Amino acid sequence: PQPESDNSFKYADLSVRLAPPHLLQPKPDVRDLVFGKYFTDHMFKVFFHEDLGGWQAPEITPLESLVLHPASKALHYAVQAFEGMKAYRGKDDKIRLFRPELNMQRLNHSAKRLGLPTFNSTEFIKCLSRLISIDQEWVPHCETASLYIRPTVIGVDPTLGVATSRSALLYAILCPVGSYFHGPVSKGVSLLADPSYTRAWPGGCGDSKLGSNYAPTIHVQEKAEEKGLQQVLWLYGGDMQLTEVGTMNIFMFIINEEGEKELITPPLNGLILPGITRMSILNLAHEWNQFKVTERIITMEEVCRLTSEKRILEMFGAGTACVVSPISNIHFLNQFLHIPTMEQPSPIYDMILKSLLNIQYGYVPNHPWIIKV
Ligand code: PMP
Repeated sequence: PQPESDNSFKYADLSVRLAPPHLLQPKPDVRDLVFGKYFTDHMFKVFFHEDLGGWQAPEITPLESLVLHPASKALHYAVQAFEGMKAYRGKDDKIRLFRPELNMQRLNHSAKRLGLPTFNSTEFIKCLSRLISIDQEWVPHCETASLYIRPTVIGVDPTLGVATSRSALLYAILCPVGSYFHGPVSKGVSLLADPSYTRAWPGGCGDSKLGSNYAPTIHVQEKAEEKGLQQVLWLYGGDMQLTEVGTMNIFMFIINEEGEKELITPPLNGLILPGITRMSILNLAHEWNQFKVTERIITMEEVCRLTSEKRILEMFGAGTACVVSPISNIHFLNQFLHIPTMEQPSPIYDMILKSLLNIQYGYVPNHPWIIKV
């Protein structure tokens, strides 16, 4: 973790302006929740103006449009970073955040990469908790849904120079979300692995959560969908290293050369977003000590070989949006590699999924990864 910013906005300065009752939106039925389509009644905002001494007083306001100068740096040079985290309502009706300090650290890391100001994690978590408690009725009353939290920071300097933005806006909006993928996970996803595309490279920004990492992926995702596939498996380099799957980190569970079971995920070498789900899965797997756990490079050559030797047991993606997403097929250079994730009698992806959900929905009392709102 990096040292926390001293020059932060403070929760103690937070002001709240509530939406008038006639502007409160009806809450959608949980069965109709489309990811990121419905927003709650309020939002968080705090401006940074270098000329006015840095961070200003934070505020909670009704959800409203932003007014930006057309020259704002965010609109020209993608000076934008964001986070994705969730609040979960447990059986006890308490609302929980899952390791939010890690999202705050990652947002500060991303902001720094863009020359944007950083903030104190604890102060921002307190502000977010207040926002969530104001909109608490929007946190779904069921365990197949949650409240997605989207903190965003943008450079709003109204000048076209490719230079540090002297003004910034940090804001957060909330949306109730169901499960990320349509339909049950019982089928597993099919991936497009096309080595002619890459999402990150050494010295680049793959380890930061910048909007500019995502825009160029949309076209490739469309290509996957045209082929009837659900997600992109992002490869890197001449040896076609597996890096991530869609907006998830990737895991492979195999029988290794020694005949042991081993869980493998690519290392944090700058090409990979350091997922909080990824870290949590590694933490759990080390704690369980039931199989070997390794962070190392995986290549497509290895996946092809292990597939033909029937030594891949499972592959899955992991991220906040869908927690764990089992993989069934990889479309790679005109061949279909079948991954038998869904054929395992007691798959570890399911054990991991249930363990994480049990923590997030409060079945594990006083878990250290949980902060109650
Ligand atoms: N990789 C990418 C590219 C992502 O966008 C995400 C989602 N933030 C992840 C991995 C998973 O990260 P997390 O577990 O923190 O959601």
